[in-house]
Amino acid sequence: MKIVKLDGKGQTSFKEIAKPEGDDQHVIIKVKGSALCGTEIHTFKDHGVVREGMYNAGHEVVGVIESAPLNSLYKAGMRVGACVVQGCGRCDFCQAGYETACLNKTFYASNGHAEYFKLGLNGVRVLPDNIDWPTGAILSGDGLGVPVRASRRLGDTAGKKILVLGLGPIGLGNVLVQAFKGAEVMGADFVEYRTELAGKLGAVGSINLSKQDLKEAVLEWTAGKGADIVILAVGKAEALLSAVEVVKHQGTIFQVAEFTSATINPSAMFVAKELTMTGSWYYTSADWPVMLDLYSKGLAIDKLITHVIPFEQAQEAFEIFVSGNSGKVVMSYN
Ligand SMILES: [Zn+2]
Ligand SMILES: [Zn+2]
Repeated sequence: MKIVKLDGKGQTSFKEIAKPEGDDQHVIIKVKGSALCGTEIHTFKDHGVVREGMYNAGHEVVGVIESAPLNSLYKAGMRVGACVVQGCGRCDFCQAGYETACLNKTFYASNGHAEYFKLGLNGVRVLPDNIDWPTGAILSGDGLGVPVRASRRLGDTAGKKILVLGLGPIGLGNVLVQAFKGAEVMGADFVEYRTELAGKLGAVGSINLSKQDLKEAVLEWTAGKGADIVILAVGKAEALLSAVEVVKHQGTIFQVAEFTSATINPSAMFVAKELTMTGSWYYTSADWPVMLDLYSKGLAIDKLITHVIPFEQAQEAFEIFVSGNSGKVVMSYN
């Protein structure tokens, strides 16, 4: 089968490798769509894939089951998506539907940009009947999964003023979900394409950080109080410091982006301002019914998709994705 390899330095290539083989714990999916994720940007732009047997980090995959174990719930021909962080199914965390905390979890978060994909049974997500492939990839992948998990952790946000800092696909997904829940959402990003897109997804406005001062704009929007909640959707430590400045007293900073170190002033954050800071990672089996429910109620997740590009043009897909002039980019397959 054909698979995309991320070579680094902004280059991709196609490799011909053996098709994965099914067994009694896995399904084989003939891939029909795979979405690009922000977690792949560095691999594409900088170092390329480094792990043996890994060609790309694609993990937002939809397609048709080609083969499934006989005694499983799944059959050839079913249209499915993939949850790629899977628990053991037996521990307390898994029993509570919190597989991302399982100590014996398995990751399937690689090689999804390929003609076939091998997935553990616990991660198979059966798609609603008439959904198209690109939308299915958003529904069953982190495109919707991450914002929905964040939303469940944040609870009722109706009427709250929420600033989404960073309008990459995950930030945009949070704009969409929070606006749908009745929050008053403001986006902020340096890229105009994305600040404009946030408006189409339900934001009441957006702050273009290349032209406007964040603090000034937020204080003006909130009559000097600061945002009730800041969702941190940009993988930069400085963003956390900005969030502290623009969140109101006793407000919440919620982190969905990845960065691994930051210098904070705990006295200012927790003692003086009495802030709450928390976050979430990926999504779990407990989030999936909520994702389906939001979709059935009309949450327009297809609006997150700005480009659908044939798999054969993977290079172009990655270039558009990293340009910033895009929302979700999904590759389509024959
Ligand atoms: Zn992802
Ligand atoms: Zn477990």
